[in-house]
Amino acid sequence: MKRLLAATQNPGKLSEIVSILSPYGFDVTSPLELGLRVEVVEDGRSFRENALKKALAYHRASGMLTLADDSGLVIDALDGAPGVLSSRFLGEKTSYAEKMKEILETLESVPDEERTARFICEVAIVKDEDNIWFAHGVLEGTVARSPSGKGGFGYDPIFYLPDTGKTLAELTPKEKNSISHRGQALREAARILVRLIETGEI
Ligand code: IMP
Repeated sequence: MKRLLAATQNPGKLSEIVSILSPYGFDVTSPLELGLRVEVVEDGRSFRENALKKALAYHRASGMLTLADDSGLVIDALDGAPGVLSSRFLGEKTSYAEKMKEILETLESVPDEERTARFICEVAIVKDEDNIWFAHGVLEGTVARSPSGKGGFGYDPIFYLPDTGKTLAELTPKEKNSISHRGQALREAARILVRLIETGEI
């Protein structure tokens, strides 16, 4: 069984990573389990840059094969905001109810066809300084007219999926994982890791 460090302090993300990678035979551990505390300033200009920063910092602290992700919401009518600043939009202490209210008010006069948005997730896998791989996931949708649903987290209640007629917060966790940006990126990461084991690279 291959041991891998998931570089996240977020228990929700950790359980998603464990549930996707365990079936492939990975023994996923966490900074909490290892007693590791690493401060990473997420000041990169892209999701990929931030994912790499986190994975490298935790790899350097642990010496282990490490996986990290970075994600966020990109709204076209806001020129890509909140983007890499998704969790810090209007300040880290501002509730998601307030963040979503502000977005909906700003977009009030924007017609349905211009409310396109996407969740993006980048995953970085670091074996060492010279052996780094990336995986990527995108979920396309639109910004709803009002929040709806109690599931998920963050911006899920205003992220509308035209194909299902629901917001992400109205999906079950299983339904969300099967289509989400993070689910896609983690499944691609799992395929990369399996290939690397087969080729003896990790
Ligand atoms: P990260 O933890 O640095 O990747 O920040 C991700 C931020 O993007 C979260 O705090 C949310 O604001 C937003 N975000 C990412 N993925 C999702 C999702 O699946 N649903 C809702 N919001 C998300």
